[in-house]
Amino acid sequence: MSKLTWTNWSGGVQSWPEQIVTPGSLDEIIEVVKMAASTGSAHGAAQQKQIRLVAAGHSFTPVAQTDSIMMSLDNYQGIEAIDKEAGLVTVKAGTRLYQLGATLHENGLAQENLGDINQQSIAGAVSTGTHGTGADLQTIATQIVALKLINGRGELVTIDESEPDLLNAARISLGMLGIIVEVTLRVVPAYKLHLISQPANLDGILADLETHKQNRHFEFFWFPHTKTVQFKRMNPTKKEPTEDGFGTWLNDVVIENGALWLASTISKQIPSTTPAICRLSGRFLSKVEKVDYSYRVFAATRTVRFEEMEYNVPAASFTDCLHDIEAEIERQQFPVNFPVECRFVKADDIWLSPAYQRDSGYIAVHVFKGKPFRAYFEAIEAIFQKYNGRPHWGKRHTFTPAHVQDAYPKANDFLQLRTEFDPQGIFLNQHLRQTFGIGQSNQ
Ligand SMILES: Cc1cc2nc3c(=O)[nH]c(=O)nc-3n(C[C@H](O)[C@H](O)[C@H](O)COP(=O)(O)OP(=O)(O)OC[C@H]3O[C@@H](n4cnc5c(N)ncnc54)[C@H](O)[C@@H]3O)c2cc1C
Repeated sequence: MSKLTWTNWSGGVQSWPEQIVTPGSLDEIIEVVKMAASTGSAHGAAQQKQIRLVAAGHSFTPVAQTDSIMMSLDNYQGIEAIDKEAGLVTVKAGTRLYQLGATLHENGLAQENLGDINQQSIAGAVSTGTHGTGADLQTIATQIVALKLINGRGELVTIDESEPDLLNAARISLGMLGIIVEVTLRVVPAYKLHLISQPANLDGILADLETHKQNRHFEFFWFPHTKTVQFKRMNPTKKEPTEDGFGTWLNDVVIENGALWLASTISKQIPSTTPAICRLSGRFLSKVEKVDYSYRVFAATRTVRFEEMEYNVPAASFTDCLHDIEAEIERQQFPVNFPVECRFVKADDIWLSPAYQRDSGYIAVHVFKGKPFRAYFEAIEAIFQKYNGRPHWGKRHTFTPAHVQDAYPKANDFLQLRTEFDPQGIFLNQHLRQTFGIGQSNQ
């Protein structure tokens, strides 16, 4: 076993790569790919070296795992070009979202939408279909208008809107088509958001769901074993940015992290106290308001580590699915104290996007790090699948090739393209082979 150890953010996935490489130029990236390709052609498939890209390691699934070559583009970051007039920015694939957000802001620009953290690299985020919330907004990968990748032969391939099918295959690819080295994103003029976050009643929120979905961004966190939700909405505003006062600090640091950690620790030690802990947590919730530039409002601080599963379900099934989850948690008395996160995303045309051709609700369940999660996730996953759920590729799931075929009309087209881009299967690992049913022959 290799002496190198890599662990993802949650600590739930470990990897012992033979080598970790951090190329700083395109030539170096290509050299590694050609070297890996040559091991297969010279010594046969059994000796074939694999390359898995890793970015911030914020995926909960073993998508980045490898015992061969792990490549990080941390030394391949930065903005290549900004065209303010056209609203386009070209960026090296390893660039972290916090860096991208700050640089865009300096240039009076912003990403149209983001998820709730900004630690990921742009390539890492889009490759698993990372999304934010907003019933009229799509996954982050839809912001890509062009990208460049290095395929399994070590060739630089440019894909843009002149080839919409190819672009829709490459925007969310879990790294299976090659190493994304550059992306061009459609961006918008910098804008401020007014965030209002306040406690509410679950049934009330669900009764008015369609109205709430008219907010540019709307999400809620439901506390299991209670009817309490923290209801968040964000809308564009011309107001001046607010100072982060005591209330914001109390919410961000104490309620969302400190109190959550304490509640989770007690729930882990004494699971039977969990419903009471949830009720108590609900009482600590308060109204918080904040105005700031979008990239600063989207990004939350997450200091408490957890495991997560998140599925996309058709928007029309969202309420029924959540009701089933509520009933199942009560029926099995799962000792979960982490709130269930509910978000909304507009349909897109990306072949492997969970939101492929359907307006979607995303429901995420979490379990504090170190606490058993399998029985809970298994029970909730069965509910997601009852509603034709499609998993977030970066969050725990047990999707099989049969599920993939059922859920993704373009799965075979994608797999065919994958064989053309990477005939030797350099960019695969066991998790991807299992999930997508790719055999040793790479078909
Ligand atoms: C605290 C926390 C909060 C999160 N919040 C959200 C959220 O709000 N919304 C949401 O949708 N998800 C969220 N996620 C999930 C996260 O956004 C995804 O798992 C994302 O893919 C992680 O990005 P990363 O940079 O860490 O990439 P990694 O996890 O390191 O890699 C992800 C995938 O991208 C591939 N990859 C990386 N770089 C390249 C490249 N250059 N070329 C080709 N393939 C590449 C990797 O091989 C792997 O398959 C969250 C995760 C955590 C831990």
